[in-house]
Amino acid sequence: MIFLWIFLGLLGLFIVVTLIRAAFFKPEKVETMPLTEESVDIDRYCTNLCDAIKIKTISNYDRDLVDWAEFDKFHAFLEERYPLIHKTMTKTKIADASLVFKWEGTDPSLDGIALLGHQDVVPIAEGTEKDWEHPPFDGVNDGEFIWGRGAMDMKNHLIAVMESVESLIAEGYQPKRTVYICLGHNEEVVAAPDNGAKAIAKYFEEQGVHLEAVLDEGGAILPATVKGVVDCNLAGVGIAEKGSVNYKISVNAKGGHSSQPPEHTALGHLADVIKDIEKHQFKATMPDFVYDLFTSIGKRSTYPAKLLFCNLWLLKPLVVKIMTKIPPAASLIRTCTAVTMAQGSPQFNVLPQKASITVNFRTMPGVTFKDVEQHIKDSVRNKNIDIEFLVGKEASKVSPTDSKAFKVIKELCESSNGKNLVAPFLVMGGTDSYNYENVCDNIYRFAPFVVNTGLLLCTHATNERLPLDSIEEALKFFKRYVKRMTEN
Ligand SMILES: [Zn+2]
Repeated sequence: MIFLWIFLGLLGLFIVVTLIRAAFFKPEKVETMPLTEESVDIDRYCTNLCDAIKIKTISNYDRDLVDWAEFDKFHAFLEERYPLIHKTMTKTKIADASLVFKWEGTDPSLDGIALLGHQDVVPIAEGTEKDWEHPPFDGVNDGEFIWGRGAMDMKNHLIAVMESVESLIAEGYQPKRTVYICLGHNEEVVAAPDNGAKAIAKYFEEQGVHLEAVLDEGGAILPATVKGVVDCNLAGVGIAEKGSVNYKISVNAKGGHSSQPPEHTALGHLADVIKDIEKHQFKATMPDFVYDLFTSIGKRSTYPAKLLFCNLWLLKPLVVKIMTKIPPAASLIRTCTAVTMAQGSPQFNVLPQKASITVNFRTMPGVTFKDVEQHIKDSVRNKNIDIEFLVGKEASKVSPTDSKAFKVIKELCESSNGKNLVAPFLVMGGTDSYNYENVCDNIYRFAPFVVNTGLLLCTHATNERLPLDSIEEALKFFKRYVKRMTEN
């Protein structure tokens, strides 16, 4: 009986503490500098973005299939539209068509900053051209959106960077730190052998350039409204990106004629391998930045939701469990496994002598290829399998959230709109910035455009378009970011 009273007493105490904690579960007041007034020319931006979209800078794994004349056209376009950048900054062409602009800072003892963008876009999937409301390379501005391939990924961002720097030069601004604009030419090509961003980073290394911060694509500002829980704009700043590695796993067998099959063919045995792999998922754990993300959202939520969020430390195992059941959420907290390809015999009537599958793993920062290989060995009961590494890219390092650049991004974003909430997050795909790890510790993947999830899904797809109402803040953000990062 006494235990019951103790239990009830503790439970009562917990409830009271939670009620009080939830009331004080608020975002920390950060000392912010007042935002500078920035003039931006939205019409000019729109014209330039529309014209940039009209140039078909489509990249391809096979460089012989790239229409390099389009990239030449794009370079000429930049030269014509951004005369001050071309007058003030030095321009270096790297690899086939990547560009580095350098705006020398007044204090050579300070590390510079780099603003990244890629010039290339993905092609239009065959047969889908007619599904576009406006042709993908017409660069149409209908007064609400700018339509076309690259409108979101990422000519919008690239042109915003160019506009902002051009305008700062026009205003006579002098950076203390050197400002680099780095424009890759084949970001969209997975594992490009002649990767432009890699070549730029190598060029920096050779030049002895170390950067204070790199800002690239990756996150955006997403309206996040859950009725009765939270109403904010979630600005995800990518502080890391997942790795991706492919393994081929094969089972060998005798083969022979299908008229006299054994109990299990090689494919039959392989089915068990697939089951083992899918059943033994990587362990899910909540990384600090996911914890921080939920805590930040929790602090902006309604009081009833706060009762839950303020006890995240206690509910963590339960939250992790729930997240593993929701694929997009699971991808944030564990290395994901996807069996994607399978091969057996080449004929209907031939027993396979070898059957194989290809498995794509998306690794969390900290999980290496070696770990993945070990995981396969540990998970599969059949020890007569061959494991072959195909191709892969290790996960990135994790950039800190206490750097000057992260703080500046957070401050600029949150001060410009009270609804904006900046939180670190993990980028699922790859970006050019991955290649800059040797020359920079503070790499952030963030585009300051407010876009909803529906629009984000148009990236690489049909009807890619940028909402006009997202432009003004983005242009102001870049000007302020450059100023704040290079004032001292
Ligand atoms: Zn992109």
